[in-house]
Amino acid sequence: MPKTYDPTNIFARILRGEIPNKTVLETPHSLAFHDINPLAPVHVLVIPKGAYVDFDDFARNATDAEIVDFNRACAKVCEVTGCSPGEGYRAITNAGAHGMQEVPHYHLHILGGRVLGRMIARAD
Ligand code: 5GP
Repeated sequence: MPKTYDPTNIFARILRGEIPNKTVLETPHSLAFHDINPLAPVHVLVIPKGAYVDFDDFARNATDAEIVDFNRACAKVCEVTGCSPGEGYRAITNAGAHGMQEVPHYHLHILGGRVLGRMIARAD
């Protein structure tokens, strides 16, 4: 069953130009901008311009052109932020309730600029 996209979400509003953002780069199908609440010296969000709720929605339903463009935009962000080549980075995407996704428009967090610790805390 397809996921329902909420066009009032904050990233949809950024894409419509209703809310400002600090753009890192823009491509035909993607936008990268600084997270408003950075958790590391580098914290960039990369989003597709299309209306996709989360990673698997994007992977399943986006066009090949959108998927290639998005991945190349992510690679360019790694480059322009100095993360790669460099000391490295982490790319994270959250989905749904268990993933604790806040904004229901697919986005990849690219974090770097410091040692980021382990990927995930143990539940116990
Ligand atoms: P999520 O939890 O959905 O993976 O992450 C959402 C991210 O969006 C959070 O890191 C949050 O700081 C960021 N964010 C929320 N609202 C805004 C906004 O208006 N502008 C920007 N640049 N980032 C936002």
